[in-house]
Amino acid sequence: MAIDPICKMMVDEKSVRYRSEYKGTTYYFCAPGCKKIFDESPEIYIGGENRGNSEEEHK
Ligand SMILES: [Zn+2]
Repeated sequence: MAIDPICKMMVDEKSVRYRSEYKGTTYYFCAPGCKKIFDESPEIYIGGENRGNSEEEHK
């Protein structure tokens, strides 16, 4: 299973219909809307991959 980087939903890469390749990595999406959002600004959604899973502090 892969994770939709937009909505964090689990998607099955074998049956998923929406995918996008960015910098050599394939990303999978649950819906065309998620793919569209990703395609418009992929850096926002993949930028944190090597910085640990830093969740912003909730206030
Ligand atoms: Zn989605």
